[in-house]
Amino acid sequence: MYTKRGIPVSPGVVIGPCLIVGSDDGKVSPRKIAPDKIPLEIERFKSAFAHAEKEIAENEKLASSSLGQQYGAIFGAHLAMLRDPHMLAEIKKSIEEDRFSAEFSCRKVLRNYAEKFRTLGNEYFAERANDLIDLERKLVHFLLGKHKQDLSRLSAPALIVAHNLTPSETAGLDRRYALGFATEVGGHTSHTAIIAGALGLPAVVGLGSFLKELNDNDTIIIDGNEGLLIVDPDEETITQYRDSEERMKFVARNLDKLKNLSSETMCGERIFLMANIEFPEEAEQEILKNSDGIGLYRTEFLYLGREKVPTEEDHFQAYTKVIQAMDGKPVIIRTLDIGADKIPGNYSHLYSPESNPVLGIRSIRFSLNDLDLFRIQLRAILRASVNANVGIMFPLISSLMELRQAKMTVREVMEDLGEQNIPFNPDVQIGMMVEVPSAAVMADIFAKEADFFSIGTNDLIMYTLAVDRSDPAVAKYFSSGDPSILHLLNTIRQAGAKQKKRVSICGQMSSDPKYVPLLIGLGYRHLSVTPHVIPEIKQIIRNITIRQAEEIAQQALSMDLARNIDSFLRQEFFKLCP
Ligand code: PEP
Ligand code: MG
Repeated sequence: MYTKRGIPVSPGVVIGPCLIVGSDDGKVSPRKIAPDKIPLEIERFKSAFAHAEKEIAENEKLASSSLGQQYGAIFGAHLAMLRDPHMLAEIKKSIEEDRFSAEFSCRKVLRNYAEKFRTLGNEYFAERANDLIDLERKLVHFLLGKHKQDLSRLSAPALIVAHNLTPSETAGLDRRYALGFATEVGGHTSHTAIIAGALGLPAVVGLGSFLKELNDNDTIIIDGNEGLLIVDPDEETITQYRDSEERMKFVARNLDKLKNLSSETMCGERIFLMANIEFPEEAEQEILKNSDGIGLYRTEFLYLGREKVPTEEDHFQAYTKVIQAMDGKPVIIRTLDIGADKIPGNYSHLYSPESNPVLGIRSIRFSLNDLDLFRIQLRAILRASVNANVGIMFPLISSLMELRQAKMTVREVMEDLGEQNIPFNPDVQIGMMVEVPSAAVMADIFAKEADFFSIGTNDLIMYTLAVDRSDPAVAKYFSSGDPSILHLLNTIRQAGAKQKKRVSICGQMSSDPKYVPLLIGLGYRHLSVTPHVIPEIKQIIRNITIRQAEEIAQQALSMDLARNIDSFLRQEFFKLCP
């Protein structure tokens, strides 16, 4: 038995057999396979080989007929290389005798050959080395691509372990069989982590390298409360976990008693507690019946984890489902926030590779670059908003020009709908996320033109502190308690208040209980949180007065080190909720 510590991103504990899934990001770990799995691994290799052979043969035919024989011959040479009997024998030996996975065996053997060619130092052989790398990538792609596709078609319960899972792969997990997951990479506020919470799957990310020590079907424990992965647990550990499961149920039952009480401070101030959702079905959960509405609906998940680009009708159906489930309570629909780590897997043609996607054509930039796609979504939102309490929210606004262009597109869509006699809500509120430092600093200007603000602390912290929210290597620098963040939050709230505009917080910071007194003390009255933390956040709200919260905020604002602010807030939180 051994334990690895990572970043807990979705609570709960699961115990069971693991399923190792390959990675799409080019990394192949030297994974060993169990002796009884060797025939299966040989079969996987044969199938990948057949796929690669077929694809190259098709390319040969196409190049010969459209470009000429001499071009077809290039692929002919690739085929000959792929079929080289010595190379194939080495790959088989690596699987059968060294017990390496098919993908690692292909990578090892083909790269070895390529390296030998390269050292010959002439241009011709350097080119052949590149061809070999190309072949190797193709084989690995077929091997891992297939393995990954199987993710949404799991047929038995399993705990998923992977180097990485993209948000679209996570969104596509079959919830009946995927019981939880653990990954080597990933950060606290990565979208994969957020989806895990939405699906209610216990999950730990950022565990560092562990896959090479694991075999399919090894028993593991994923502890999403403490951020632990326990491999091959002994009986005593399993028993301890089963006992703690009982204790967790007890705590949950106590929090459940708060269910029907309003989220009001001890002195009677109402704090609106809304929910963040990613999938329309989430709006129907029991826990949301006691929320004050949907503060953030991340609509990009309509695009992630599905085969086809959603139509206007798909959008309309999804929004209508959420609006009906919320029964008159506000629903803030955020327009597409695609890009960064949320790249649609099955139609990546919508999205071209970028050197730094986090700073690239992301979110509102993506929508404004593809107005046809944007209009489809806006039409659906406006149609669904008839007789409903709906707000449209634009993500990642970084300049006033973007906000104006986005609002103008809404107006144009309204005109189109009017001309077509299609009913829509002309009074829909139009707001924006404040999650780029430029928008935070200029909040007083934006507040004049936006109907409301919602602060995305996940991105605001990432862009302010220059820390990739998905990268575990810099997770320790990602600090919600940084004084710069507290000051920005103060500025944004005051700017909103001056224009009498509602300002809420929907980043993960408001789902972390220890920051709730601070946020209330800074003047925030609207928090939008991950649904499963609603009872816990409600408990804190009910245990504090506005005066206490303001004192906490004043003290935190006067401090200059994130570390001191965090430990002060933790202490205050434990005083309030021992
Ligand atoms: C945020 O950035 O805090 C936010 C709520 O948006 P997302 O996590 O979807 O980027
Ligand atoms: Mg964001």
